[in-house]
Amino acid sequence: MTATTAPAAQTREPSNLFYQTRNRRPVVARAEGIYFWDKDGRRYIDGSSGAMVANIGHSNPRVLAAMRRQMEETTFAYRLHFENEAAETLAKRIAQRAPQGLDRIFFVSGGSEAVESCLKLARQHAVATGQEKRWKVISRFPSYHGATLGALAVTGYTPMTAPFAPMMQEMPKIPAPTCYLDRDNLDWEARGLRYAEMLREEIERQGPESVLAFIMEPVGGASTGALVAPDSYYARVREICDDYGILLILDEVMSGVGRTGRFLASEHWDLRPDIIALSKGFAAGYAPLGAMVADRRLVEPVLDAGGFIHGYTYAGNPLACAAGLAVLEEIESQDLMGNATRMGGLLKGGLCRLMARFPFIGDVRGLGLLLAFEMVADRQTMQPLPKGLNAHSRLVDLAYERGLIIYSRRTRGGIEGDHFLVCPPMIVDEAQVGEILGLLEESLVAFAAEAGLPVSNSAA
Ligand code: PLP
Repeated sequence: MTATTAPAAQTREPSNLFYQTRNRRPVVARAEGIYFWDKDGRRYIDGSSGAMVANIGHSNPRVLAAMRRQMEETTFAYRLHFENEAAETLAKRIAQRAPQGLDRIFFVSGGSEAVESCLKLARQHAVATGQEKRWKVISRFPSYHGATLGALAVTGYTPMTAPFAPMMQEMPKIPAPTCYLDRDNLDWEARGLRYAEMLREEIERQGPESVLAFIMEPVGGASTGALVAPDSYYARVREICDDYGILLILDEVMSGVGRTGRFLASEHWDLRPDIIALSKGFAAGYAPLGAMVADRRLVEPVLDAGGFIHGYTYAGNPLACAAGLAVLEEIESQDLMGNATRMGGLLKGGLCRLMARFPFIGDVRGLGLLLAFEMVADRQTMQPLPKGLNAHSRLVDLAYERGLIIYSRRTRGGIEGDHFLVCPPMIVDEAQVGEILGLLEESLVAFAAEAGLPVSNSAA
């Protein structure tokens, strides 16, 4: 019996809630550290930090205390009526952490809002500086930038975008740098340059005067499964943006705020963007919070020209910002980025060892604790598993039955392919990494037996 169809879930009252499907899940009772417990007392390891959100783990007492202190003062103060210290202090701390000059912070409540804000600031900067013809934002396929229509227009994930195509101004896409799939004679770095040059070709095809920006996830998230480009890619992308005077927007909603072992994933390559989107691990699930971090040279002309025409009611919410500040303090004081690097190394090593036992694991990738593995039918050709196996959902269910939560998507543009993000909170320790790998291995054995896939006897 699977946890998803547990008796408690089947016999529960019908729900008035609805999300993507009618699937029911157990009711959560509490969470602490990397664990959840449901109302029936079953324990689950949060092996994906929810959707790569709960970066510092659950129920951190210092964060809860900071939120309680803020609540005693005020939970809400509308930004047109008051400034608040939590938002001011958090903005200052983010500006200190961001590349020099990116010191203008605009708070939002989630990743889609952060991306929408980046697109709108880029456009308003163009308008304010006499470049009205620039409006196209090139992005990558596959990619994920959010569910609202603006963010969706730059998203490359067919099942999520196709129904809305007539309703949005779809933006040009270039292939994401999926070098691990390429079977050519180029070395890794040469492939990186080849993918970066696709940006130049697309700018030329679109007409350089019409292109406003390029947006990408520096380390891929849900749609590519922690895709990391060759080092050469990042510097060349920056060069091309500069050549054409187009803005580089980095969507660090998933990769930012420490998960890859650096505050921003782009620091791994000294890549300086013009605008950054943050969310998810920013307040780590303690409150809905996101931010646009922008270069002052973009913001000032927009404010001079009459103001930034954009905003959300909950922007700069004191309670959300107090949570974000306490999360940041926790990441810094507990050296959670160092831990993400160390534990990420262990976990990635363990995932690579699983490849020896399970020939259908075709790739292991990622940085820090933003890690994923991909299943394939054949490692030589990287042909995906048959779609009908529904590996992406089946393995997640088998792991869930065993008390391990992982996160999956279809790799090849959402149409086929199966990848799994294994991204526990950054507080995870060595024993817990071992526990995650053990449960994952058991789940993979069960999946292979069901799907009739080969397993080698050697222990991983
Ligand atoms: N950008 C990236 C890279 C994401 O991974 C996500 C969410 O998964 C978003 C944007 C959208 O964030 P949200 O779901 O908070 O709106």
